[in-house]
Amino acid sequence: MTQIPDIRLNDGATIPQLGFGVFQIPPAETAKAVTEALELGYRHIDTAAIYGNEREVGEAIAASGIPRDQLYVTTKLWNADQGGGRATAAFEASVEKLGLEPDLYLIHWPTPARDLYVESWRALERLQADGRVRSIGVSNFQPAHLRRLLQETQVVPAVNQIELHPYLQQKELRAFHAEHGIVTEAWSPLAQGELLDDPALQRIAQAHGKTTAQVVLRWHVQIGNVVFPKSVTPSRIAENAAIFDFALSDAELHAIDQLDRDHRTGFHPDEMEIA
Ligand code: NAD
Repeated sequence: MTQIPDIRLNDGATIPQLGFGVFQIPPAETAKAVTEALELGYRHIDTAAIYGNEREVGEAIAASGIPRDQLYVTTKLWNADQGGGRATAAFEASVEKLGLEPDLYLIHWPTPARDLYVESWRALERLQADGRVRSIGVSNFQPAHLRRLLQETQVVPAVNQIELHPYLQQKELRAFHAEHGIVTEAWSPLAQGELLDDPALQRIAQAHGKTTAQVVLRWHVQIGNVVFPKSVTPSRIAENAAIFDFALSDAELHAIDQLDRDHRTGFHPDEMEIA
């Protein structure tokens, strides 16, 4: 695999721009998939407490023998664990399962009706100040939620991890992130496979001798997103990493820009209020 570029975060740390996501990988299959990804050269794994596979991610990492400082691990605080003391305890539970301290810890959803995300963020700030985690960030935050953190707390989130792909380009949030030095992480970067039959993307793929998935991931990389596509199929895990040996032209980027259609594959942040 060609060298994966690093992106610098607003706290001075760096994050590999391409990682491997493990949402919906059953625990029994997780260690095998993560081992495959690590063997293929991935060094960044994105998990969450709610995925139920932190322990298996940790097992694969431990078995790989790859030095800890060459790996990047993200996990996330689940909604039911929001709040000051609960958040700290949930972090400790994730550390125990992973067998390591993550590089990046995120609030998974704002769940604004519960109004605990500011208090939870202060708990993450303390974890960072105590040296337990290098970087802290959020996920699925809308501009209003980010504004509250900016106004009421000390640390600007290093990242906001949001659903983002050519059918949901999140231009308003990306502009907000750029203005405040927040890196955009794109979840469901392939729209869970839904855009792989798009004719415009297929034409671009053909022109480069690449697959549609590779074109979409390359688009993410060229517009500055961090991505972590998920697959349990070894050939696809390899394919999704082979995106650093070609580049999309300005005309191709423009054509993809036109595909934006406000299409979500997952929950809207305002609808995710359940624990
Ligand atoms: P994704 O867009 O990565 O799509 C995954 C699906 O696309 C796979 O199940 C497979 O069917 C297909 N696929 C993958 N590679 C392919 C290829 N090369 N060719 C053809 N089909 C291919 O969707 P995702 O898994 O939802 O998102 C990726 C990661 O984002 C997750 O694993 C997780 O880490 C993260 N995520 C975070 C949140 C959040 O709320 N923060 C929500 C969803 C996902």
